[in-house]
Amino acid sequence: MDLSVEGKAYINGTFENCCIGIDDGKIVAVKKILKADEHFDFGNKIILPAGIDLHVHFRDPGMTHKEDFSTGSLAAVFGGISCVFDMPNTVPQTTTPGSLSDKINDCKRKSFVDFGVYAGVTNDNIKDIEKLAKKCNGFKIFLGNTTVALMFDKTNLRNVLKSISTIGKPVLFHAEDEECLIKNRSVENGLADHLRSRPAGCEELSIREIFNASQDLGSRIHVCHVSSCEGLELLKNRPSNISCGVTPHHCLLSIEKNLGTPSFYKVNPPVRTSFDKEALFNALKNGLVDILESDHAPHTRDEKAVDFDSVPCGLPGVETMYPLFLYLVKKEILSFQRLISLLCIRPAELMGIPKGRLEVGYDADFVVIDFKDVGKIRSDNLHSKCGWTPFEDWSAVFPSCIFVRGEKLIEDHEIQVNQGFGQFVGA
Ligand SMILES: [Zn+2]
Repeated sequence: MDLSVEGKAYINGTFENCCIGIDDGKIVAVKKILKADEHFDFGNKIILPAGIDLHVHFRDPGMTHKEDFSTGSLAAVFGGISCVFDMPNTVPQTTTPGSLSDKINDCKRKSFVDFGVYAGVTNDNIKDIEKLAKKCNGFKIFLGNTTVALMFDKTNLRNVLKSISTIGKPVLFHAEDEECLIKNRSVENGLADHLRSRPAGCEELSIREIFNASQDLGSRIHVCHVSSCEGLELLKNRPSNISCGVTPHHCLLSIEKNLGTPSFYKVNPPVRTSFDKEALFNALKNGLVDILESDHAPHTRDEKAVDFDSVPCGLPGVETMYPLFLYLVKKEILSFQRLISLLCIRPAELMGIPKGRLEVGYDADFVVIDFKDVGKIRSDNLHSKCGWTPFEDWSAVFPSCIFVRGEKLIEDHEIQVNQGFGQFVGA
């Protein structure tokens, strides 16, 4: 055995003082006492599965002044995330087998964490679904326009879902109905205007259309970043092949609260009312929502500081997601069981990867937490290239250590591996 790690580990829904044995990056034993060639004793510190983020925009290739795969994945490491799945709206977009191969090869050289990629579905590549499937972990469809989106005509939806259903890979949706958005669009001077331009009804309508188009197909569908009460209401009665996710910003922020410079909080779907925020948070607690996803979508400070109407939408979040929610667990606002399900177990299940659990046969991906380590989120301490966070000064518990496939990635706040350590999880 290469390595054993001792501490208070979260195994099968409870904490046990135990040792985790690791060989070739996999967990091979969980026992009271184990001693491998190398042994780490974390004493009374807590060992949790590392997080998995199914929704990041690392802006690579094409917009690497905002982020690139090395800075984005470094932010993931320090935020306790061992695996990320990157969206297709890069430049070029990953909408062809060639662009997917290029991206995978490039990220293999750059990434600090394991990764997967999505193929974007557009009006023009529907015929290539089978070829695309060989190169990706899932598909992304934008039903409404957003910053650097890929346009898709909803009249094609049923046909696309039919062809993807035979392949078995998940389809992720940005669910805001384009016609509805166009109807409501007006010049925006602030977050309340942005909310009026993108009302909850557009999300509701879009989710309804996804339900209708996918009826009886059994395609695996994921509704990204649900943001409204109306959306949640519909999803309460979803069939079992449909999952949904919520972002930290939608369930922790609302427009009634003074959010600092409004343009920095312009995001799609928009940050909504405290009523929506609370409903979303309750849905995390009661299990209606499957996963937390960061929708890490960085833009530089300069890009976010222009007049509100022309500001690009999106905000960073991959590094702060797990730490923010660990603090909420410490405050007993959320249970461990729900947190680990939302950030580890369900994301891994949805992508079919052997991660997210501290069990024999799974990748040895875990974080070490000391709940006395409550700190404040500060832009200066984060690793994203964009250099800011919507959660400045929020309390959080950052992991002191993360292991990915049995390799220790952080020591004394320094990264211990080189770019390219991260592996493609396979298509
Ligand atoms: Zn996104």
